[in-house]
Amino acid sequence: MYWRVFFYSLFLLLGALAGWFTTFRAGANQGVMGLLTGTLLVALAWFVVDSVRGARLLAWLRSGDITEPALSSGLWGEVADRARRLLKSRERLTQASDERLQNFLAALQVSPNGVVLLDSQARIEWFNQTASSHFGFEAPRDLAQHFGNLVRDPGFAAYFVARDFQRDVIMPGRADSPTRPVRLAVRLHPYSEGNMLLLSRDITAVEQAEAMRRDFVANVSHEIRTPLTVLAGFVETLQSLPLDEEERQRYLALMAAQSTRMQTLVSDLLTLSRLEGSPPVGSTDWVSVHLLMQQVAQEAQALSGHVTDGSGKPHAIRFEESEASDISGAHSELLSAMANLAGNAVRYTPPGGEIVVRWQSLPDGRGEYSVQDSGPGIAAEHIPRLTERFYRVDSSRSRETGGTGLGLAIVKHVAQRHGAELKIESIPGRGSTFSLVFPQMRVRPHGAI
Ligand code: ADP
Repeated sequence: MYWRVFFYSLFLLLGALAGWFTTFRAGANQGVMGLLTGTLLVALAWFVVDSVRGARLLAWLRSGDITEPALSSGLWGEVADRARRLLKSRERLTQASDERLQNFLAALQVSPNGVVLLDSQARIEWFNQTASSHFGFEAPRDLAQHFGNLVRDPGFAAYFVARDFQRDVIMPGRADSPTRPVRLAVRLHPYSEGNMLLLSRDITAVEQAEAMRRDFVANVSHEIRTPLTVLAGFVETLQSLPLDEEERQRYLALMAAQSTRMQTLVSDLLTLSRLEGSPPVGSTDWVSVHLLMQQVAQEAQALSGHVTDGSGKPHAIRFEESEASDISGAHSELLSAMANLAGNAVRYTPPGGEIVVRWQSLPDGRGEYSVQDSGPGIAAEHIPRLTERFYRVDSSRSRETGGTGLGLAIVKHVAQRHGAELKIESIPGRGSTFSLVFPQMRVRPHGAI
């Protein structure tokens, strides 16, 4: 700044001197006039140059592009340099906070919960991808829209009006339909000056699990209550009526049948809960398929004699093995699944019917255990539900033959634990084929190492 004053004064002085020198010979008055004119001209020239430099600086600032310095020297040069440095540091700060904001939003974006930011008027300021799928929002279309105009659930409207934000409100999701319900738990969290954070969670699976648990408890209670009621009735009869020996024996046999039914049910329930709670099945223990088939054969033959009860022809049960193989897994689980399928074929196929229990190695190295029967078959609409606990197509036949409704649920669990696939094919009136397809890594030729 001092240099500027110094140079300005120096230029004025030089202008004055130049004016005086060029005119003083013509007389003293002309000399003074020349001095003043010289000074004025230098002042004018300085003003013009300064204004041009100032205008360049202004244009540079207006352009917004501060990458190249506008002026390199003088006062304006320094102003430009300072302004440039200031803007650069501001830019760096803005960039850093912008990055932080983007990081923060990216974190919210991957949140498994829906996140919606609402302003003090409950208008949408921002929402993440999960919220978009929960409520069907689309950006930028729905930004600045009132949340209540887009989500018109009466339960949510009442919750919003009551302003009781200490609890969740449960409401259907955008994709909710009678066949595929979607339930959301939504809660508002007020923050700074009337703004609100809305969080939504998909609780469909939790609600379904809870409903399944309730159904399961109700089913188990029902299954146990029925034989218990029968037993209690017989006990009362035995206590109150004088019965002859033959009648007593008949009642006792019926009571024994009911208690066996309860025992089977409890044992199946325990098997299921063991399967659910056990660690994954290892693949180091190999079980001979031939041995399994022999054990299945024994159980199936015994059951066949029991089911037909001497009243009809026994079933024609055939066992076929395409080659001697081993399966890796848990012996008791594999036997239980295989025997369950063979047992079902016996129980649902009328006496005299044909049953083929087969083991075959598939060309791709997998192994298939299948049970084919000539029984009543199953209508297509029941097939996807057969592995549900207590799901029965023919309840009376199931109970008559000692079924618990848990057999196929057990088979499915065992299959899952061994990486196997349970396939069900059936033609009503012609028969059914239930197969377990084991993956290549769990099957080897018998005795191979
Ligand atoms: P259950 O103890 O009642 O047999 P499962 O879970 O083993 O229970 O089977 C479920 C239902 O599937 C049975 O109640 C029966 O209606 C049907 N089902 C199973 N296997 C057969 C089959 N081989 N033929 C016809 N229906 C079958």
